[in-house]
Amino acid sequence: MTQKTPHRDPKAIAPESQQEGKLGKAVEKPEIKDESHAKAARSKATDVRSTSETPPASATPPVKSGAPASRKKVKQPKKDPPPTPAAIAAGKRPQREPETRSPAAKIHRADEKSRIEFVSAESTETAALPREPEKSASTGENRSAPVSDTGTPSMPEPVISGPEEKPERSSLETIGDSPVLEPVPPEPSEDLPEPEFSSQEPEPPPAVPAEPEPVAHHRVSTIPALFVVQITPELAPVAKVGGLADVVFGLSNELEIRGNHVEVILPKYDCLRYDHIWGLCETYKDLWVPWYGGAIHCTVYFGFVHGRKCFFIEPHSGDNFFNRGCIYGFNDDILRFAFFTRAAMEFLWKSGKNPDVIHCHDWQTALAPVLLFEIYKFLGMTHPRVCFTIHNFKHQGVTGAQVLQATGLNRPEYYFHYDRLRDNFNPHALNLMKAGVVYSNFVTTVSPRHASEAKDQGQGFGLEPTLHIHHVKYGGVVNGIDYNVWNPEIDCHIPHRYGVDTIGDKYRNKKALRDRLMIADSEKPIVAFVGRLDPQKGLELIRHAIFYTLHRRGQFVLLGSSPDGQINSYFWSLKHQLNDNPDCHIEIGFNEELSHLIYAGADMILVPSQFEPCGLTQLIAMRYGTVPVVREVGGLADTVFDKDYSYKPLNERNGYVFRDYDYGGLESALGRALSCYYDYPDHFRDLMKNAMRYDFSWKNPGQDYLNIYDLIREK
Ligand code: ADP
Repeated sequence: MTQKTPHRDPKAIAPESQQEGKLGKAVEKPEIKDESHAKAARSKATDVRSTSETPPASATPPVKSGAPASRKKVKQPKKDPPPTPAAIAAGKRPQREPETRSPAAKIHRADEKSRIEFVSAESTETAALPREPEKSASTGENRSAPVSDTGTPSMPEPVISGPEEKPERSSLETIGDSPVLEPVPPEPSEDLPEPEFSSQEPEPPPAVPAEPEPVAHHRVSTIPALFVVQITPELAPVAKVGGLADVVFGLSNELEIRGNHVEVILPKYDCLRYDHIWGLCETYKDLWVPWYGGAIHCTVYFGFVHGRKCFFIEPHSGDNFFNRGCIYGFNDDILRFAFFTRAAMEFLWKSGKNPDVIHCHDWQTALAPVLLFEIYKFLGMTHPRVCFTIHNFKHQGVTGAQVLQATGLNRPEYYFHYDRLRDNFNPHALNLMKAGVVYSNFVTTVSPRHASEAKDQGQGFGLEPTLHIHHVKYGGVVNGIDYNVWNPEIDCHIPHRYGVDTIGDKYRNKKALRDRLMIADSEKPIVAFVGRLDPQKGLELIRHAIFYTLHRRGQFVLLGSSPDGQINSYFWSLKHQLNDNPDCHIEIGFNEELSHLIYAGADMILVPSQFEPCGLTQLIAMRYGTVPVVREVGGLADTVFDKDYSYKPLNERNGYVFRDYDYGGLESALGRALSCYYDYPDHFRDLMKNAMRYDFSWKNPGQDYLNIYDLIREK
């Protein structure tokens, strides 16, 4: 979902290596000797596809959920420096409930697990269900329904060797005598009146349930309280670039509500929204993080971000990794986040934290499982398991060998292996996202549809073979949205609160939006786009939609920005071109508060993405009764069901969907939405209400992630 390194551009390697001298200025303090890691026993992992590249016989699969003999011998860490500060101590593992499972409980647990969308042949078939001719709508599954009844994931242990050689590798047979993992089946006229939403209610639809989505999440969980640490480059609202930030924010809260202990580790950027951090204080003054041959001195701060317990790592070095005014967009981004990841792991180890699950996100933190299973495991961190979530396959962190040297992993001959970190295309490059897939105990992306697209339909940006090899520990979970933040009934950023029963008040926000952006007050519908101005988001179609909407007597509001100067200047020129148009406003920049008013005041939200792993804007818009017009791809296909063509019952249809990425496709959906708004206002209002009634909270995805954690945790 976020940024930000050019994808497999061989040049991507050059800038990093050019900085070798500069980045090597780390303070000399070799506290941790990585040589010790090399001494660790390793066993062989082979790939039948490239036997000539078989790693040394002494190599070992980095993770063994099944508690290999070598790990059993390692004692729990007894660390020096001694007692951690009190605030850190507060983060110690919660008391575990005793594992007393009745057979019934096991069945129940297995039932919960079946809700995790495992990408298998079945899910691919689901994506290929027959649909309406031509403009078919989404065939995505209801997010709360299991996709694959037969999906029975086996052991989510990182697999280094290919399935051809040991197809049963991740099955329970590989666990040996370990009790760690149990078998878990796992659219006219200008004169036409605006819809009178505040007037009388439409006739109640005959015999339709009030809630369109059957929810089956009020279960008594058999999963004990877990200690989960999220290592992330972004967290809403303090460090937000895109949806990744919202996901970490919302998921952390949901997990806490369910009784788990959650901590978040992120860089202490100078551009943090400090007004959203409460009680910020130093909590660990002298954290020395190994870097190249020396170490960089860091200070760790603790603070609450709307209740989330957060640790912020501040390095003190000439590299100035996180004091650059923004989060991404630098030549050394890969080294910046490699350093952060190493620092986060070092902090966990030094502070004596021993989480059940480390949840890392995107390429920025994908080295966490590698560091854990290749270094820290041999220093005593044998307990944590790793869940890796891919928010955007486009940015994978393709880099050179320097990152190995910098992080202390060293041993290029070991890591430059196809089954480990070597990029699938460039044999002279390492791929951090691939590292996360290979080394993590479980890998998720942010919708079942996109999980399938990435693995089988060419949207994995080169990681398809790796996803196939590791398919048994790979699945899709649709993101939720935080209803404490995105809720028109309590939203403090909008002037008029409303709910599904008071939807007429939405139009007072529409007026407020017009007043704020100085667009004409008329009967016209407002179509909006909120998001990063990235080619992924369908920039040509967004531009076309602006002119098409104006042509169809609508109004258009755009809020977006891009780190790419060329794209930004294009939209600036478009803004100047349309500056005198009373029906259009283009706002270039990032403005969280304004985005709330747009979601509340617009009639339709446009998401015409080329690809979209999940997409949060359509989910947020629906919560605000703003009808999504989306392309049938990824998470958009999983969450938006076309008013005219969906297989869903009428009361479960919630938007407009088009398939073809061209002007005709866009007009087919946007045109129908604008016609419905003008010609059938009652139908349009029903659509708005259907959208508002959907449950896109974190309840279901929160349970899904808990099931994954439970599946992989050391038991
Ligand atoms: P991505 O993660 O690809 O950027 P998502 O749809 O998953 O896209 O998430 C985008 C999130 O970022 C949403 O919360 C959206 O409201 C927010 N957002 C994106 N651009 C802006 C902007 N210019 N101003 C305010 N919020 C923005």
